[in-house]
Amino acid sequence: MSITDEEKVSITILLPGGRLPANIMETALGLARKYRLGLYLTTLQNLRLLDVPLSLLEEIKRPLADLGAEFKAHGRFPVPRVCVGIHHCKLGLIDTEALSRRILAHFAGKKTTKGKLKIAIAACAMGCPGIGTSDIGIVATRKGYDIFAGGKGGTYPKISRRIRQDVTEDEVIETLQTLIDFHDRKTVTKQRMYKLLDDPEFPFPAI
Ligand code: SF4
Repeated sequence: MSITDEEKVSITILLPGGRLPANIMETALGLARKYRLGLYLTTLQNLRLLDVPLSLLEEIKRPLADLGAEFKAHGRFPVPRVCVGIHHCKLGLIDTEALSRRILAHFAGKKTTKGKLKIAIAACAMGCPGIGTSDIGIVATRKGYDIFAGGKGGTYPKISRRIRQDVTEDEVIETLQTLIDFHDRKTVTKQRMYKLLDDPEFPFPAI
C-alpha cells in the first residue's frame, strides 16, 4: 500500500490558555511541510495536524512530545476554552490563562474524566468563549466569579444556568471538583452536563 492509500489520522496538540508556544509552532510547521500535513485550529483552541499517515503517527508526535507538547486523548481532563483576558482586552478582569492553568494543575492527577465535558472561562460578563453553551462556564465579575452549568451547542442548543454567584477563585476550584465528581458518578462513558441538571442530587440549585 502506498502512503497515499494509507489510513490517515490526526494529532491534536493541547494548548492551555489558547497559547501556542513558538517552538511548538515552528516544529509543527516543519512537520507539516515535511509530511504534507494540514494545520487546523480547532474550535476548542487546540492545534490539530491533519492527514497524518497512521504508520508515521509516533514518528510525527515524537519531536512535539520532546518539546513538552501534550496530546488530546480519551479520558483526558478537558482544556478550558478561554477568552484572551485582562492583558489583551480592555473589558477583561482576570488572567484567563492563569486560571486555566490552575484548573489543569488541580486536576492533573485525575486518571480519567468521562467524556463530553466542555469548560469555558470568560474574563468578563460578555462571555465571549461560549459561556452560555458550555457544560461549565466560569465568568469573572467585579465581585468575584459566577459559575454556570448545563450549556451546549449543536443542533439543539441549551443555555446554561447560573449555579454560583460572587465566589472566590478557591471556591471556583471547589465547585468544579464537585461538578466533575458528580458528572463522573452519574455518567457511564460520556454525557453532557445538561442531562444532569434536573437530577434530584444535582449539587447546586439555579440562582
Ligand atoms: S469575555 Fe470580556 S474580557 Fe473576554 S474577550 Fe470577551 S469582552 Fe473581552
